[in-house]
Amino acid sequence: MHSTGLIPWRRSLRESGEALLDLICPPSCAACTAGIARGELCQHCADELVGPLPPLCPRCGRIRPAAAPSCPHSHDCLTGIAAARHAFDYRGSAGALVRRLKFEHDAAAGCFLVRSMLPAMRQLLRQRQGERSIRCLALVSVPLHPRKLRSRGMDQAAWLAEGLTQRAGITFLPGVLRRMRETMPQGDPRVTSRAHNVADAFGLRRPRAVRGKRVILVDDVYTSGSTARECAALLRAGGCREVLLLTAARG
Ligand SMILES: [Zn+2]
Ligand SMILES: [Zn+2]
Repeated sequence: MHSTGLIPWRRSLRESGEALLDLICPPSCAACTAGIARGELCQHCADELVGPLPPLCPRCGRIRPAAAPSCPHSHDCLTGIAAARHAFDYRGSAGALVRRLKFEHDAAAGCFLVRSMLPAMRQLLRQRQGERSIRCLALVSVPLHPRKLRSRGMDQAAWLAEGLTQRAGITFLPGVLRRMRETMPQGDPRVTSRAHNVADAFGLRRPRAVRGKRVILVDDVYTSGSTARECAALLRAGGCREVLLLTAARG
């Protein structure tokens, strides 16, 4: 059987149809929506994407100069988190992709982010040698407050986790964490202390689901790490064996 499940003439018909459609109505860039996409992004947005290039610090996932005796970045923000990885730096088109998913519910932008998070997730897991059983792994997303979810109409972190579970086959446990009170966005200029803004803002609803598991905590953006640290503390207190952090972007 052909790998795509389509017999060759149907495939070529479909491809020529798509090529004709692209000619009449060129696909727009998933990030800026204005430029013409080559692949999924326009050239300008593709050039703007910056991901962490190796050598990376195994703990924080940021670039660590090969000659540096230790990682030059502080790991204080990763208390309770064994290792973190992100697909892109937030600046430029990565931020635009996150905002398109979050505020416009743009699936093209979301799918691009999910696909870009997959290699970062594999890197995270490759580091955890000796514990390869997929049954011990679970994805948990950083939740929105129910009121914000109603007004926004989508939970971007859960959306990304859902996409990852479909592609990687790792179980996603929705609703494990709950945001107990509304918090201001961490990037809001009125937030004077990010740690204080999210202190005690979360609750663990289903400790049994994560007990003994290695959890990959999924969020759209990593800013100060305060949110992830709060969530990780709850997961650990609930009996989770280890918390790893995976985000689409890092601010
Ligand atoms: Zn673009
Ligand atoms: Zn580091």
